[in-house]
Amino acid sequence: MADCLVIAVDGPSGSGKSSAARGAARALGLRYLDTGAMYRALTWWMLGRGLEVSDPVVVAGHAGEPVIEVGTDPDQPWVSVDGTDVSGPIRERPVTNAVSAVASVPEVRRHLIAQQREIIARACAETGGIVAEGRDIGTVVAPQARVKVFLTAAESAPGPRRL
Ligand code: C5P
Repeated sequence: MADCLVIAVDGPSGSGKSSAARGAARALGLRYLDTGAMYRALTWWMLGRGLEVSDPVVVAGHAGEPVIEVGTDPDQPWVSVDGTDVSGPIRERPVTNAVSAVASVPEVRRHLIAQQREIIARACAETGGIVAEGRDIGTVVAPQARVKVFLTAAESAPGPRRL
């Protein structure tokens, strides 16, 4: 783990952080982890089950049920729930509206953070590092991260910010 390059990337939505994180992973030959996609995938599953996602007790009770997997190739990120690829649906409005309620439940965070740490450890063992995107990577998930980036961008400059 000591030799592993973990790069934590955080920043407001619309800052271009996903593009930057993927680009950095590609350029450095590292894996890429979008932790937000995991929270979104769990939310997608809960909505599909008709669960009341505004009730933390309900959310906590089901947090560990679905099997969530993520691909860590920066050229082709994907996320699946119980074997179904949900990369598209997790970006749609119902999930976007509900995800913060789900992500605020401690039981959810415990499950997904444990899984994220395993993914980071595997990437360290296999490729020497990973670029991980999410608000708590540098503080909670991987505080040992050697590089911590908080990316901001002027909203008026979408062209240059992507560069
Ligand atoms: O990055 P993205 O917009 O896909 O994240 C979706 C939501 O998941 C965030 O708005 C936040 O509520 C939650 N999230 C989180 N911790 C992370 C990543 C995402 O709570 N590490």
